Amino acid sequence: MSAVRLAVPDEVMRRIRAHGVDTYPHECCGALLGRDGDGRREVIELVPLANHRDDSPRNRFEVMADDVRLAEKMAHEKRLELVGWYHSHPDSPARPSEYDRDHAWPWYSYVIVSVQKGVACDVTSWRLQEDRARYEREEIETVAHPVGI
Ligand SMILES: [Zn+2]
Repeated sequence: MSAVRLAVPDEVMRRIRAHGVDTYPHECCGALLGRDGDGRREVIELVPLANHRDDSPRNRFEVMADDVRLAEKMAHEKRLELVGWYHSHPDSPARPSEYDRDHAWPWYSYVIVSVQKGVACDVTSWRLQEDRARYEREEIETVAHPVGI
């Protein structure tokens, strides 16, 4: 399988990390808007969302149907695509949990920021395979500005 890459502008990366720090020790989540190109995907903007999981906001992130509609509407208005989602892992590694895999959809990029003791650490990105068997790590390429795929 060919490697997949996700281009993320510095500013978007900064905001993902800041969101994770703001909501610590709870998880943050949001949508990623951008463009999908040939073997390369670019994030241009993010849409912060509320984490609806009141029962366990520390380690459960859930995107609701309303969130998907809101994110798709914003993408459409900005002539972008909804390319993925981000969330934080408070005091856990930046790796998808079983819960994440069970609740993910193929195709989208899932960016995870690890927030250790209130400090944003590793940021990784993952894509679920079509058969849902496993996540494939997606290489994040930080760029100064949107590259315009
Ligand atoms: Zn997670």
